[in-house]
Amino acid sequence: MADTIFQKILNGEIPCHKVYEDDHVLAFLDINPVSQGHTLVIPKEPAETLDQLSDESSAAIGRVLPRLCRAVLKATGAQHFNILQNNGAPAHQAVFHVHFHIIPKEESGAGLGIGWKPSDLSSGADLARSISTCLGN
Ligand code: AMP
Repeated sequence: MADTIFQKILNGEIPCHKVYEDDHVLAFLDINPVSQGHTLVIPKEPAETLDQLSDESSAAIGRVLPRLCRAVLKATGAQHFNILQNNGAPAHQAVFHVHFHIIPKEESGAGLGIGWKPSDLSSGADLARSISTCLGN
């Protein structure tokens, strides 16, 4: 399969505005930011979706993500932000290499818009048991 645009960035084939790099993680500015400071955090491991990512890469991202959020807030002056992480085309994933969006919420309102339609939780006990079983607990 052809390399994704993020793999090409990792390979150094196309440029990015890099803000952070370590052995497992790269962070750079989104090319079409929804607010100033919109940053993408990606593992170097070429997993398409989060459920496919190794524990090692997941831990590496988890270790640095809050620090990156603090830096984005400090640099932009924003006080609030969203983390967005899309998996699969119907869930709005456009680039099939795991990535976390850090999206500052500007005072102007610029930032992530969320269409949230809550429903009632039915069969919660059964569902919780089923998910727990799938975890192997
Ligand atoms: P998603 O819909 O979660 O897959 O988001 C993909 C994100 O990648 C979008 O916000 C794009 O603006 C961003 N993007 C695509 N190409 C590049 C690039 N070359 N450099 C930085 N960000 C990019």
